[in-house]
Amino acid sequence: MTDSSNSNSSSNASIRAEDTYMGGLYQRFPVTVERGQGADVWDTDGRQYIDCMAGYGVALLGHRNRRVTDAIAEQAGKIITVHSSLYNPTREKFLEKITGLAPEGLKQVHLNNSGAEAVEAAIKFAKKYTGRKKMIAMKGSYHGKSLGALSITFGPKYRRPFEPLIEGAEFTPFGDADALRQAVDDDTAFVIMEPIQGESGIHVAPPGFLQEARSICDERGALLVFDEIQAGLGRTGKLWACQHWGVAPDILCLAKGIAGGVPMGATLARPEIIGAMSKGEHSSTFGGNPLSCAAGIATLDALTQDGLVENSAAVGKVFADGLLNLKERHPRMIRDVRGRGLMIGVELKFEVRRILERLMNRGILMLYSGRNILRILPPLVISEDQAAKVLDGLDAVLAEEQRDRA
Ligand SMILES: *Cc1c(COP(=O)(O)O)cnc(C)c1O
Repeated sequence: MTDSSNSNSSSNASIRAEDTYMGGLYQRFPVTVERGQGADVWDTDGRQYIDCMAGYGVALLGHRNRRVTDAIAEQAGKIITVHSSLYNPTREKFLEKITGLAPEGLKQVHLNNSGAEAVEAAIKFAKKYTGRKKMIAMKGSYHGKSLGALSITFGPKYRRPFEPLIEGAEFTPFGDADALRQAVDDDTAFVIMEPIQGESGIHVAPPGFLQEARSICDERGALLVFDEIQAGLGRTGKLWACQHWGVAPDILCLAKGIAGGVPMGATLARPEIIGAMSKGEHSSTFGGNPLSCAAGIATLDALTQDGLVENSAAVGKVFADGLLNLKERHPRMIRDVRGRGLMIGVELKFEVRRILERLMNRGILMLYSGRNILRILPPLVISEDQAAKVLDGLDAVLAEEQRDRA
């Protein structure tokens, strides 16, 4: 943190107040963000930052995207809440759009409010449809922290204190088709994976793995579930991450940026899967509320009509090239660069917290993903110019760090 920011009493006061009220559940950084525009945000002192956190990918379309703010205002002027026991034209339009864009066969949708909820629904749908108990997830997986989603989240430090969780979960190494083949049997309800793992350090599925997983599931009658909560919706330079491998799942979990920053989760599935559920077996009071659906329509329109997926691929390339260049310039600092589109991990040879703080002092907000890995997850509207500034900033910060360590 810079001295100038530290000396600002209003932001310091709000930091103290939030910590008092919220407790210490979050790993936090001392920046008090007040407003945003596109890929930029400003703190309460008026300092500008390029936002490569984007709320963990939620600000997919950038901040204050006109399509989203207009849609929210218009919908709020009509009605905000209509429970799914009644019908609503905004919800209908959103459902039509999302199923029209979804991977092949995913023609039904359960709407909810978060990533964890989208995963909870997937677990229930798959168990009910198959009548089976076993759940196979990947080592390094992250599917959320509610108790069901937590059961298939790998990190032992997240799970251990809350065991017993849902029984029947097993983890196989991400990318190991042989191990998966051994684990899946005729009591396996589903195999769930992120095509690109987000929280555990941006790990991209190796060639052939998704295809193998698809055929293993088909052979054994298990469902294949993709969690694209972080990687979906254009983030990786294609609308769906699974398109990089040409494989469609039976169930797809979405959330994060799906409604331009308004809370929404969605569990898409083949109709016979949701069709196996009885009335009332699953529901969500907020799920499918017209305000989120209006923002969701605006989001899908922006993705398909404003060139954002293409921009994700193009600026992703600028980042990838620039980072490989930085890796050559800083071989003692950078171990690896991974990712697709605007979902990028930079593995360093040491803990990244101080690097993140130094980047913040230079007006760049970035995420970590595990202790040693920087995660770059900007809004898809980020420009090549802004990407160049981020790369320059990182170059400078790595040089500073090098000097301090020498
Ligand atoms: C963020 C995330 C979740 C959980 O979403 P919440 O909205 O925080 O519950 C699940 N899976 C993946 C891949 C995520 O990135």
